[in-house]
Amino acid sequence: MMKQYIEEAEKVLLHTYNRYQIVLDRGDGVHLYDLDGKEYLDFASGIAVFALGYNNKAYNDALKAQIDKLIHTSNYYYNVPAVEAAKKIKKVSGMDRVFFTNSGAEAVEGAIKAARKYAYLKDGTTDHEIIAMEHSFHGRTFGALSVTGNPKYREAFEPMIGNVKFAGMNDFESVKELVNEKTCAIIFETVQGEGGIFPAAGEFMEQVKALCEERDILLILDEIQCGMGRTGYMYAWQKYGVKPDIMTTAKALGCGVPVGAFLLTEKVAANSLSSGDHGTTYGGNPLAAAAVSKVLDLFEEEHILDNVNAVAPYLERKLDALAEKYSFIKTRRGAGLMQGLVFDRPVGEVIQRALENGLILINAGPDIIRFVPPLIISKEDVDAMTGILEKSLEQ
Ligand SMILES: *Cc1c(COP(=O)(O)O)cnc(C)c1O
Repeated sequence: MMKQYIEEAEKVLLHTYNRYQIVLDRGDGVHLYDLDGKEYLDFASGIAVFALGYNNKAYNDALKAQIDKLIHTSNYYYNVPAVEAAKKIKKVSGMDRVFFTNSGAEAVEGAIKAARKYAYLKDGTTDHEIIAMEHSFHGRTFGALSVTGNPKYREAFEPMIGNVKFAGMNDFESVKELVNEKTCAIIFETVQGEGGIFPAAGEFMEQVKALCEERDILLILDEIQCGMGRTGYMYAWQKYGVKPDIMTTAKALGCGVPVGAFLLTEKVAANSLSSGDHGTTYGGNPLAAAAVSKVLDLFEEEHILDNVNAVAPYLERKLDALAEKYSFIKTRRGAGLMQGLVFDRPVGEVIQRALENGLILINAGPDIIRFVPPLIISKEDVDAMTGILEKSLEQ
């Protein structure tokens, strides 16, 4: 049955992914099941999305209730779930204003527009510059792609939006060299995801923040992957105490319902986008907002951050032991439940073997296995994962 759907899929879906040859059908907790009923332990959570695990009853019930009430209104009117969701996200982030989007890339688009408008209102000129990081990933739309530091993703689609320069992550001198009177924003992921699980260094964060304050440049932190509790903090920057002027969030924000947001400080909100400058038909609709609202409630009720902080050191130890044992694993790096094992060779085959052995893993670049499990995992799940991974490595 799976084979038939896979063949049909390849006839009707645009082939932009080389998909694994399974059809996933349902999920429960930290497990996924394919159409043949085979069980998989999931250490990918749909790319760092399903933080609460699959089939969470309280979450499902909240969505069902909202579906029966009202799914969509447009942003011409107010709706209760959007207000509730915005209040909660404001509380956990310490930011002041929220604009809901439908995806991560759209949140980055909004952040870039807000930064350009802020600079435009300041000096009345355009062609302001943005500094982004090499190996960064911010999404596939044109603005987000333009600040994505992977030339391979950009090449065929040139020209990008102009005036973007790339510096080295954690290389403050390279950032400083690129700053001039036209610089309106510096954007980076607090922990780089797709680019290979690179956490920002504390000193780098502080130096960039100081530079931004001195020159009135906006600091945009992309927390789409590393945010929402993944590193043990609600947002990864909170560990460093370096607050952004604009922040993006998505992925786990709706735990599967497509939703993102960009958040601004009051200062930036009051001096950038205003009526007519930006919009979205779906963004923050009652269904998406109800998901965000419930997710944030459940993070508190189910003590998600506590679980991350309890399990992450254990995962780190287990991964470190693997890196120690196998000479072809160079190192482990990451933060919280966002970890990478760096190999000296491509990891595709190991990931394929793990899949066959009932473990779902993803990569971050060709040589790195990425671990971004649901945030509800237990130490027993970590043991089960490393057991299957070791077996796959031995094969
Ligand atoms: C996934 C991701 C995006 C893009 O989000 P989409 O929802 O796929 O558009 C942007 N930035 C980071 C850091 C991401 O991990």
